[in-house]
Amino acid sequence: MPRPIHATIHTLSLQHNLARLRTAGADARLWAVVKANAYGHGIERVFEGLRAADGFALLDLDEAARVRQLGWRGPILLLEGVFEPRDLELCSRLGLWHTIHCEAQIDWLAAHKTQMPHRVFLKMNSGMNRLGFTPQRFRSAWARLNALPQVEEISFMTHFSDADGPRGIAHQIATFATATQDLPGECTLGNSAATLRHSQNVLARGDWLREGIALYGSSPDHPEHCLQDWDLRPAMTLGTRLIGMQQLQAGDTVGYGSCFTANGPMQIGVAACGYADGYPRHAPTGTPVLVNGIRTRLVGRVSMDMLTVDLTPVLAAGGPVDLGSEVTLWGRATNGTVLPIDEVAQAAGTVGYELMCALAPRVPVAVEPGDGPLC
Ligand SMILES: *Cc1c(COP(=O)(O)O)cnc(C)c1O
Repeated sequence: MPRPIHATIHTLSLQHNLARLRTAGADARLWAVVKANAYGHGIERVFEGLRAADGFALLDLDEAARVRQLGWRGPILLLEGVFEPRDLELCSRLGLWHTIHCEAQIDWLAAHKTQMPHRVFLKMNSGMNRLGFTPQRFRSAWARLNALPQVEEISFMTHFSDADGPRGIAHQIATFATATQDLPGECTLGNSAATLRHSQNVLARGDWLREGIALYGSSPDHPEHCLQDWDLRPAMTLGTRLIGMQQLQAGDTVGYGSCFTANGPMQIGVAACGYADGYPRHAPTGTPVLVNGIRTRLVGRVSMDMLTVDLTPVLAAGGPVDLGSEVTLWGRATNGTVLPIDEVAQAAGTVGYELMCALAPRVPVAVEPGDGPLC
């Protein structure tokens, strides 16, 4: 029998989250952002759940080819554009839309031979200071692109640094709106946090929203708002089983470094999941975990293949606990109880994004189907 660890991708949850963001985004079209192999979920595995999106946005040309292989004929956007001139051949061949964030990308496009003019998204650095043209250089970049026969349509893009926090997006929207004034074209500004927190702002909404983390069932502004506050559902469950149990007495310690000491008699369970499965090694004692759908806590240090959990609340609930009992590291237990990935991430000092992206290749993943074909 293989190790009992497994991940499950919930197609219905992806569909639900997409519908939820569609409502929040009003009349804007939605990119489903599937970079980093769909935030660790697997592009092929999320496709059914996200195919009601208006397009797929990603970074990697191989990933774009995989989306086309799935039969997707709609828009695909390369969020960072091309990395070298020959990438443009694939853009022409697969009909990829691409971001233009620097002069070199315009040079490459000007030298590219194609029968099929491209749709490009000209990116402004409106304050994030990562990719994009400054507002001062934006218009001249637009004029250069607009003069190229290789360009069919120019849209505008920027990215918010603080859509999830107190600084907000007003300053970047003002910069973007001023610099794009009277330029014709569609706009894309917001990510998940902007959609959920700021989409009543028509300028923030733009024509296209770029949805990542919320699609996968993580709250973009946790802990200010949790998953349930935004009516989102976990798209991934990481589950395993108990493969051992120990009865401790006061003073007994658990695991490497003896990080946890029992202060009285207690039972612990040993679950088949460790940092080599992608569970964060830095998750401390107290990190939430579900056993038979009952909330308890991790105790002691996470090791490569195992972690240990306090069985006290599970025994107190009267349920039988045994070898083989269900352990849910994040996601949804069989009894329907949800443990948001955000709570585990917070305990480990990180964010849901990092945990989902870090799911290890050795973990087998199954897709739980949705309710039939969607159009
Ligand atoms: C990753 C990414 C997004 C999606 O952000 P989320 O916070 O996951 O919704 C949007 N836009 C760009 C440019 C990105 O790189």
